[in-house]
Amino acid sequence: MEMNYNVENNSASLHTGKTLTSWTICDQFISNWGKSNGFGVIKDKVVKKGVEIRRRTYICEHGRKYTCKSAKETSTKKILCPWHVNASCPKVNNPDSAIFINKIVDEHNHDLSVEAVKFREDKKFNDEMVRDIQFMTDHCKIGATAQRRYLEGKYPSQPIYSQDLYATIKKFRPTAKSLSNDAAQMSDWLDEQKERDSR
Ligand SMILES: [Zn+2]
Repeated sequence: MEMNYNVENNSASLHTGKTLTSWTICDQFISNWGKSNGFGVIKDKVVKKGVEIRRRTYICEHGRKYTCKSAKETSTKKILCPWHVNASCPKVNNPDSAIFINKIVDEHNHDLSVEAVKFREDKKFNDEMVRDIQFMTDHCKIGATAQRRYLEGKYPSQPIYSQDLYATIKKFRPTAKSLSNDAAQMSDWLDEQKERDSR
């Protein structure tokens, strides 16, 4: 039956020889597989021919070497987990450009926690918050401290983690250094929002 063939994304199985229909689906599949097993997946080394991706390695979030400044961070992050998956999209005998899982090293050197991954997902900003951050960053040049105060006021049930906020701000303003904490701009923006919200 033709239909069953498409059930390849069934999250249960990640095995050598598995095929996926595109890199996007492969990325998503492996990321979800990691999440449901209690760890985050990072896209690591990639080999390209022109614009086409030929090979990709996925590693565990704890699999990357960090060059840390603080000794405290070093002890928690620099554990170099061996988990990795190699996938490839061979050029030969592969008319549909399928992605093949070639190698899986399914070992970790740390505890896995589905709850911790779930928690990280929960604390991520929703789309509206990201739009607010983009607006405040791009348009108003508001600094992180003021943005945080604004977000806490507008989304009282959402914990605002500085790390996440900085990361999101950076996305819109790679040189976060130039952020100013202009109080006047902030209050204009707040007034606008109050007007908008009371409509
Ligand atoms: Zn790991």
